[in-house]
Amino acid sequence: MSLPNTMKALEKSKPEEGLWMVQAPVPEIGPDDVLIRINATGICGTDIHIWNWDDWAQATVPVPMITGHEFAGEIVELGRNVTGLQLGQRCSGEGHVVGTDSRQSRSGKFHLDPGTRGIGVNVQGAFAGYLRLPAFNVVPLPDDIPDEIGAILDPLGNAVHTALSYDLLGEDVLITGAGPIGIMAAAVARHAGARHVVITDINPDRLALARVVCPNVRTVDVTAEDLHDVSHELGMKQGFDVGLEMSGSQQALDQMVENLIMGGKIALLGIPPGKSPVDWSRIVFKAITIKGVYGREMFETWYKMIAMLQNGLDVSRVITHRLPVDQFREGFAAMKSGQSGKVVLRWT
Ligand code: ZN
Repeated sequence: MSLPNTMKALEKSKPEEGLWMVQAPVPEIGPDDVLIRINATGICGTDIHIWNWDDWAQATVPVPMITGHEFAGEIVELGRNVTGLQLGQRCSGEGHVVGTDSRQSRSGKFHLDPGTRGIGVNVQGAFAGYLRLPAFNVVPLPDDIPDEIGAILDPLGNAVHTALSYDLLGEDVLITGAGPIGIMAAAVARHAGARHVVITDINPDRLALARVVCPNVRTVDVTAEDLHDVSHELGMKQGFDVGLEMSGSQQALDQMVENLIMGGKIALLGIPPGKSPVDWSRIVFKAITIKGVYGREMFETWYKMIAMLQNGLDVSRVITHRLPVDQFREGFAAMKSGQSGKVVLRWT
């Protein structure tokens, strides 16, 4: 198969608000890389930060940069050292490119490598006709997982990594923040055998989407309902066993600590906008365990999420917009409205 010399790419071309569709050279691969033809991509909150060119993006993203890190596609070229992968193989992949020298990598905790670089952030990304990726990062897609789900495995992986931080079997789980990752975490918690799963937000559209994706999860608008009342209504004697914080909101974390049992556990994925005051004495006296969650475990999270998808986990309804890539402006507008779930762009 002969490859074209240039491709479409959605690029941060200038240090200002926006992304631009450009013609870019098809990447050349190294001996340990593969070239992937992109079929579908998901728009992430990270991409919105890059579009908006906020303080984080200005400090982090060199220009020009092809954005995007949530993708599914097909392998069209193999580097000469690559074994175990085939041309034509459908795949997604881990967007964190890691080294092998750090203590963490050498102990197998690749997701904790301090030298991690992100595709679409620090290295050229997936919003393009073709993506160069280290073969190590490739995750083959089974036939029964469609491209549009392949394109959201990165955020689903965040949800799975966070939700599986603690044993959820028979536990009562509180999730604060009903964005797409919070909603997917609710579905995962259900799948993993939690007894009650409650998800909170202050945005009624997001809570409505949560009920569509996970009909067996209790949604709570914390501007209208009290979490104490809800936990009593559900028959909890003391409160929730496990909290998954997905909003970055200080009030949400306060409510979580308040409504957790003695000895409860919290996994934090939401990112507060800056330094945020925390009532540490309450956390100490309640003997609460807190874990920060970064990325996805390579590659245990990927293994578990694909296994769960093949075993009945259904997150497909979290995708609310499916658009050809030429309509990327509509996709980004939907994301920015706060009323969408995942937005998937088709490249083929
Ligand atoms: Zn993402």
